[in-house]
Amino acid sequence: MSPHSLLSLARSPGASRAGACDETADGQSGFPAQAIARLRRAGHLAAPLPEALGGAGLCEPARVDALRALLTEIGRDDLAVGRLFEGHVNALALVLRYADTAVAERLARDAAEGQLFGVWNTEPAEGGLVLDGADGLEGVKTYASGAGFVTRPLVTARIADGRRLMLVLRLEPGERADLSDWRVHGMRTTATGTVDFSGLGLRDGEVIGAPDDYWRQPFFFAGAWRFLAVQLGGIEAVLETHRAHLSATGRADDPHQQARFGRAMVAAETSRLLVARAARLAAAEADHPERVIAYVNLARAAVEQAGLDVITLAQRSIGLAGFLESHPLERLMRDLATYLRQPAPDFALTGMAAHALAADEPPHALWPDEAAPRAAERVG
Ligand SMILES: Cc1cc2nc3c(=O)[nH]c(=O)nc-3n(C[C@H](O)[C@H](O)[C@H](O)COP(=O)(O)OP(=O)(O)OC[C@H]3O[C@@H](n4cnc5c(N)ncnc54)[C@H](O)[C@@H]3O)c2cc1C
Repeated sequence: MSPHSLLSLARSPGASRAGACDETADGQSGFPAQAIARLRRAGHLAAPLPEALGGAGLCEPARVDALRALLTEIGRDDLAVGRLFEGHVNALALVLRYADTAVAERLARDAAEGQLFGVWNTEPAEGGLVLDGADGLEGVKTYASGAGFVTRPLVTARIADGRRLMLVLRLEPGERADLSDWRVHGMRTTATGTVDFSGLGLRDGEVIGAPDDYWRQPFFFAGAWRFLAVQLGGIEAVLETHRAHLSATGRADDPHQQARFGRAMVAAETSRLLVARAARLAAAEADHPERVIAYVNLARAAVEQAGLDVITLAQRSIGLAGFLESHPLERLMRDLATYLRQPAPDFALTGMAAHALAADEPPHALWPDEAAPRAAERVG
C-alpha cells in the first residue's frame, strides 16, 4: 500500500472540527492524518536522514539546533503530532546509528517515501514481546503511539538470554492494533494503544544492531532531550493562549495578571535555555556519559515543573472560561499534562542529584560554559 493510501486510510472518521485543527478532532480517539500528511509533503518525515539518503541530516550533531527547533515548532502547533513526529525521529536515529548499511538504506527509502516510524518499547510486566528461537514473535507492546498508523515500528523484543533486540517490523495500516483502552485525559489523537505481535514471523532485514544496543548510553537516557523539545512547544502554546486571553479581555494591565504571566514567561524561557543546552550536550557526546545524562535529567526535572506551573498559572489567570471545551486552553492543558508523564521522573531527578553529590567538582563546574573565559583569564 502506498503512503498516500495509508494517510487517507489513517484519517480519523470522526474528525469534524472546523478550521486548521479539523483533522485532529479531540474525541476519544482519532489520528492527525492531515497534519502527518503535511509533515510528509514538507519533507519532514525524511529530514532526519542524511542528505545522501534523501534527508536534511537532522540527526547529525551539527544540525541538532535545527532538529530541536522543528520538534518544538511541531509540538507548539499540536502536541499529539509532536509526540508522533518525535517517535518517528527517534526510530530513524536508532536505525542510522545501529543498523547495517543495507538495512538502514532500505528503511531510509521507506521514510523518504512517507512511511511513518515509531518506537514501541513500553510493555506490561507480564506478556511483553519475546522473540523465540524459531524467529517467531509472541507478546504485546503497550502505550504504542500511532498504533494502527505507524507502519514501521521499531520494537524491543526479549531473546532467550534475557537481552533485548531492536526490530523494525513492517505492518499494514490497522494491523494488530487495539486502541480500546486509550480513553484518556489528553493526547487523545496520538492513537496510543496495545499492539499484539503474537504469531508474526521475523523477516530478513528486520533486526537492528546487536542485543541491548537500545540501552546503550548516553544515547538512550540523553535522547530524552527530544521529548523535552516537544513538551517545550506545549508549554509555549499554553503561554501564548494565556497572553492572548489577557489581551483580548483587556486584563493585561492588572498587576496580579502581569505577575502570573511574568512567572509563566520565566518558566518557559528557562525551559527553552535548558532544552537547547541539553540537546547540544547530548549531540556532542563529548563529556562523560553520566555527566551528559545528568544534565538531560536536570532539564527533565525543570521542564516537568515548568509545564505544571504554566498550566496552573494560565488556569488562575483565565479562570473558568479556560475550562470550557470551546476555549483553546482546555485541550492544550490536557495534552500537556498528559505528555508530561514520562518514565521514572523521580529517578531522573535523584539520579542527577546523586551524580552531582558524588562528583569531585562543585556544582558550578559540572557543565562549564565554554564561551565564558576562565576566572584567571578575566583578571589577568
Ligand atoms: C502520550 C503518550 C504517548 C506514548 N507513546 C509511547 C510510545 O509510542 N512508545 C513507548 O514505548 N511508550 C510510549 N509512552 C509511554 C512512556 O514512554 C512511558 O512509559 C510512560 O509515559 C511512563 O509514564 P508513567 O507516569 O506511567 O511513569 P512511571 O515511570 O511508571 O512513573 C510513575 C510514578 O512512579 C515512579 N516510579 C517509577 N518507577 C518506580 C519504581 N521502580 N519504584 C517506585 N516508583 C517508581 C515515578 O517516578 C513516578 O512518580 C507514551 C506515553 C504518553 C504519555
